[in-house]
Amino acid sequence: MSVFESKKFDSHEGIHFFSDEESGLKAIIAVHNTNLGPAAGGTRLWSYENSEAAIDDALNLSRAMSYKNAMAGIPFGGGKAVIMRPEGAFDRTKLFTAYGKAIESLGGVYCTAEDVGVSTADMEVVRKETRFVGGLDHGNAASGDPSPVTAEGVFRGLHIATDHALGRPDLSGLRVAVQGLGHVGYSLCEKLSAAGAQLWVADINDNVIERAVRELGAIKVSTDAIHAQDVDIFAPCALGGAINPETIQHIKAKIIGGAANNQLASPEMGHMLKEMGILYCPDYVINGGGIINVAAELSGTYDFDWVDDKLNGLAKTLGDIFDQAFDQGMSTHEVADQMALMRIFAS
Ligand code: NAD
Repeated sequence: MSVFESKKFDSHEGIHFFSDEESGLKAIIAVHNTNLGPAAGGTRLWSYENSEAAIDDALNLSRAMSYKNAMAGIPFGGGKAVIMRPEGAFDRTKLFTAYGKAIESLGGVYCTAEDVGVSTADMEVVRKETRFVGGLDHGNAASGDPSPVTAEGVFRGLHIATDHALGRPDLSGLRVAVQGLGHVGYSLCEKLSAAGAQLWVADINDNVIERAVRELGAIKVSTDAIHAQDVDIFAPCALGGAINPETIQHIKAKIIGGAANNQLASPEMGHMLKEMGILYCPDYVINGGGIINVAAELSGTYDFDWVDDKLNGLAKTLGDIFDQAFDQGMSTHEVADQMALMRIFAS
């Protein structure tokens, strides 16, 4: 395959390949940009069809981390790692031990934490081999699962969005449709409910939906109709591509803001949302709370006030994006991209 010519390559500083026969490790660590500091981004363990698909995923995700980290105002560049899930049974400890050695060999150019398919326990194994890892449950600066902090960042961002789009900075009485009630989505639902919002919820896992109905008075909706609810806010908190050519025409919400990465199936969707008068909270800005929490740990001393300040900074940045988009007649995702590039390359 051609790598340097590929659009996805996008001037990556490094793409590192690691393999270890004994454990079955096949990993790709992509370092997009280190202008703002060492590359930071999670590790994904996934069954990829082939190594090309894994490389594509790593490149897309690591570039996005450069943008996310720049917008979060943390001293880290962008990188991401993917581990190709070994076929059949495998020894997780051996796999993550080999992976930890791989990270250590890069000497701190890349720092990791958990992402899809990887747990805090896996990261504890990695920690035995390298100090360039966060999102741990144990240790002096341990920050644990970043999801509740991601949810808090989304929650604060939604206040700014409602202020801009609806002229009211509080969420009480607002109707919110949440797609995906996993680690972040459920925590967000709890916050929204406590703030007096009414919830419409969908997930492929019925247990979490039943819990939300029982505990939060949420209304259950089918997964193929959650985006089309007559609500004020649509919060995608499942997988990417929630805003696509099929769903966009049915969206009635005035605001879209949630935790999912890559919510827009294409940049065109962002332009269409603007034309439809829907305020889109750029995903990599509003969902930056988790990496802020990990960054606090990676700094060596976890300081809650620093995290809190950075979360407020995220919300302020979101407000600046909305103002600039309004003043210049641009879509919010475009403004966010421009700001991120300025922060990365003007430093
Ligand atoms: P998770 O796996 O805990 O939750 C995802 C939930 O979505 C699950 O409950 C799953 O059943 C549900 N789901 C899957 N397909 C669905 C569908 N078609 N319709 C409705 N629900 C569906 O993941 P998470 O950690 O909560 O992350 C959610 C999203 O936020 C992901 O896109 C993730 O990349 C992104 N994100 C997470 C964090 C974090 O701190 N965890 C940080 C930034 C971004």
